[in-house]
Parts: sequence; C-alpha cells; structure tokens
Amino acid sequence: MANGGPVEHGFPHLETVREAVTALYRRLSYDTVRTFSASVAPVDVAFCDTDDLYLGTQRVAHELVRHYRLPDARMIVSFREMTHAANVELTAGPEYFIELNDRFRTHRRDIGAALAHEVMHVYLHRLDLSFPSTRANEILTDTATTYLGAGWLLLDAYREDAASSQKLGYLTPEEFGYVLAKRALLFGEDPSVWFTSPQAYTAYGRGMARARRDAQQPPLTAAGWAGRRRYARDRRHAQDPHAAGAAADGDAYSFSAQPPGQLRVSFPCPTCHQRIRVPVRGRVRARCGLCRTVLECDT
Ligand SMILES: [Zn+2]
Ligand SMILES: [Zn+2]
Repeated sequence: MANGGPVEHGFPHLETVREAVTALYRRLSYDTVRTFSASVAPVDVAFCDTDDLYLGTQRVAHELVRHYRLPDARMIVSFREMTHAANVELTAGPEYFIELNDRFRTHRRDIGAALAHEVMHVYLHRLDLSFPSTRANEILTDTATTYLGAGWLLLDAYREDAASSQKLGYLTPEEFGYVLAKRALLFGEDPSVWFTSPQAYTAYGRGMARARRDAQQPPLTAAGWAGRRRYARDRRHAQDPHAAGAAADGDAYSFSAQPPGQLRVSFPCPTCHQRIRVPVRGRVRARCGLCRTVLECDT
C-alpha cells in the first residue's frame, strides 16, 4: 500500500474500477456478493491510543478476517520503518505476515484502514483473482475492499488541512466515494454517518453523483433529455444501411446489426458494468445475468 505524495483527485482510474466490479461479480457470483450486505461496523475496528498496540492490532486484524470470512487465516502483524504504508506477504497460508509502517504506532485510528486493504490482498489471493499489472491489481484490491464493506475506512483515513494531508490506498478520494456509493445504492446503506473526516464526506458526495449518472445513461429510461436526443440521432445513423458502424468506448452504448436486419444495442449494466445486449424495438425490460439488476430501457 502506497504512502505519501500529493493527493490525486477526480476519476482517473474509473475504467479499471468498473472492470474490478465486473470481475468481482464474475468470480464471487451474485449470491456471494449479497452476503456482504453488512459493512464493517465502526465499533469493531475502533482503536484508541490507550489500547495495547499489539493486542489492539491483532483484534482489528481478526475482525477483518471474520468480515471477509477467511476462517482459518491468521494475520501476524508487525511494525517497521518502511517507505510504503503497509505490505503483506502472499503465501500458501494459513499464516500471513503483514507489516505496517512505524508511523501507525502513533496513528492507531488508521490501522483498520491499512489492514482492510492488506487482508483483502489475502482474500483475492485465495480466490486467485488478480489483474495483470501491479497498479491495476492495487485498484482491484481497493475496489473489492470497498464494494465488500470495509473500504469506508480507507476513505475516512483521507484527511487534509492547511498543514498536512493523508490518504491511503490507490483510488482517489472521489473514486473511493464512487465505489462506496455503488455499494450504498445496492444495499440501501448510508456509510456517510460513519465518517469522521469532513473531506471523506465531500468525496463521497462527488462519488455518489457519478454513481447515479451510471443509471441515467441511454437507453435506460432514466436517461435525461440530452442523452435521449443523442441516442435517437445515433440510432437513426445506425439504421442507415450505408453508414459505417461507430466504435464505442467502454461506458457508452453501441449499435450492431447481428444477425443482419436486426438492430441491437449494447450498453454497460449500471450496477456491475457487464455489457448487456437488447433488441432495438422501443420499450424493453432486461435483467442483467451477472448482478440481476432489472433494466428498464427505451431502445
Ligand atoms: Zn496493496
Ligand atoms: Zn449487472
């Protein structure tokens, strides 16, 4: 887990974040994702400066192991001077060695956030789920941590004032907010009541706005007027037999006539981002096969 440097903002990793959500559904299935409807409770990872450092750290690590349902895994946590915030050695287990940066000795309230990320590495390692590059793999880890209920700790560890700033993890604060919002929309949860950091609250609001937009893209019926107009124009173009097919980027709809004469539109599911294909014939109700979201479309 990285440490320090200026805090990056916005949504630069959104494509990988969305791929991570899809990968999580594919590997875990809808039913397993649903078992994570409860987030890690603040009281279970609370750590005050009067707690014994080692006992407290073991208690928080144990709580995360329990949350991710890694029954026989044992986390051995130690502290040392290092450039990174934290690190875990991915072995066959059942013992896993986690190192935390020495500074956590005096920043105990963020130990839960650091461990949430490191224990997720173990969870994904056991699932044999990974992305090819180190950077993409860290984004997968942060996304999975957040989508499965422990990532609000990472967003809450983001604090900024006139003198200093701190952020853990590889997602920007807004991206943590985005994944947290997608989870909140799925489970009807309000994580903002757990924030102690005002900056986390703001980033969550921005992430939520972005997450809501996913469900307001054409051909979904919740799309706005401008989107619908653009869609109608693109559809006319697609229906023209002399027009060349337009290439679509990852978060947009695209038309195809396969088999010939039957126009279809494909677009990302607003929940899991798997692409859905439906015939172009007015009102269509589809259900995503991966996350089971019912999609009301006007094609
Ligand atoms: Zn990591
Ligand atoms: Zn879906």
